[in-house]
Amino acid sequence: NEHKTRILSSIRDVKDFPKEGIIFKDITTLLNDKEAFNLLMNHLEDRYKDYDLDYVAGIDSRGFIFGAALADRLKIGFVPVRKKGKLPSTTVCEKYELEYGFDEVEIHLDAFHEKVGAKVLLIDDLIATGGTANAAAKLIKKVKANLVEACFLLNLSFLDGKKRVEEHTTVYTIFNV
Ligand code: 5GP
Repeated sequence: NEHKTRILSSIRDVKDFPKEGIIFKDITTLLNDKEAFNLLMNHLEDRYKDYDLDYVAGIDSRGFIFGAALADRLKIGFVPVRKKGKLPSTTVCEKYELEYGFDEVEIHLDAFHEKVGAKVLLIDDLIATGGTANAAAKLIKKVKANLVEACFLLNLSFLDGKKRVEEHTTVYTIFNV
């Protein structure tokens, strides 16, 4: 529909970032476009308003922006899934493989107030290989919450990352590029 076209056209392609040969999807041009940002948040609010969610969990760092904005719209709490070493209190962590080497994501042990079965939506701006989201999904399960869905604005569908996350939960992607 026309709203989706309007949102997608606000996202910029940046060539050769962070390295040569990569076309980076730049969402800063969506965020500073008040109309596009508002249309996106309306779309997300409309989809999730009847899910009866308890928390939105956002992935470091662009998932924080959309996740926190959505949590406020739904009047529920927001939980950050962070890269290793950033969270101050007791954490649970999950290692995952990168193209070269490893990375780790963490969540606070008490992020969902130790509420077993808390209904959680996981959100990030983009899914590529699915490695980050897969690790984040494992963390949410480790702390015994109920991962109801994972949501991504953009899906680099040729990389098939969505399948990995579908082993944990349903996956909703707004744009498949
Ligand atoms: P994955 O773990 O699925 O391979 O990579 C996804 C993670 O990398 C997400 O947290 C996402 O924000 C980031 N990422 C990878 N490529 C891009 C890109 O082209 N644009 C943006 N905005 N983020 C990207």
